[in-house]
Amino acid sequence: MSEEAGVKAEQEIMVPGGHGTAFSVRPDQLVEIVDLEGQQVADFIAFAERNRTEWLSTTHTRSSLLRLTVRVGDRLDSNWRRPMFEIIRDDVGRNDVITSMCDDRRYRLDYGVEGHRSCRTNFTEALEPWGIAEWQMPDPFNFFQNAPILQDRTFGNEVPTGRAGDKLVLRTLMDSIVSVSACPQDLNPCNGFRPSPLMIRIFGP
Ligand SMILES: [Zn+2]
Repeated sequence: MSEEAGVKAEQEIMVPGGHGTAFSVRPDQLVEIVDLEGQQVADFIAFAERNRTEWLSTTHTRSSLLRLTVRVGDRLDSNWRRPMFEIIRDDVGRNDVITSMCDDRRYRLDYGVEGHRSCRTNFTEALEPWGIAEWQMPDPFNFFQNAPILQDRTFGNEVPTGRAGDKLVLRTLMDSIVSVSACPQDLNPCNGFRPSPLMIRIFGP
């Protein structure tokens, strides 16, 4: 599903590199995340619309799939073990469901940088209109993130393999509030040392 296929998106959100956004979705909508310039990670979190104590959970999804990554056909579960999304297209084929989102402590403690933008602040700012506070942010799905799992069960942090225009598309299975961050990390290979924009397109019904 894409603009090229002749279907007009109901909503289009341009997310500048290093910034975030939030929006609500209904069941059977499609959420398309486009890596516009390549090598950009999309941190993704979601809450159930009707009860904010239910959220999209990497832990429960990993446990359900018995796998340390996600791919096309997978259903992504909530902490109440209900499916919230299904991956229906994944051009890059590399997604991380292990590492935490970046936050101001990460930049301060590990890099000695004060006041750096972070996924955590992006989510907090974007979700403020829904009354969702900083402490409520669940661990993210890091779409397009290249964190290969190695033989000795450690995992890496490498430049993403996504190329300009690559997409990941989710089918929505539940009324949800979604937030996406074009990760601001520019001090390690996570985003190719150069955060760049994402395009979010939401298609009917
Ligand atoms: Zn980040």
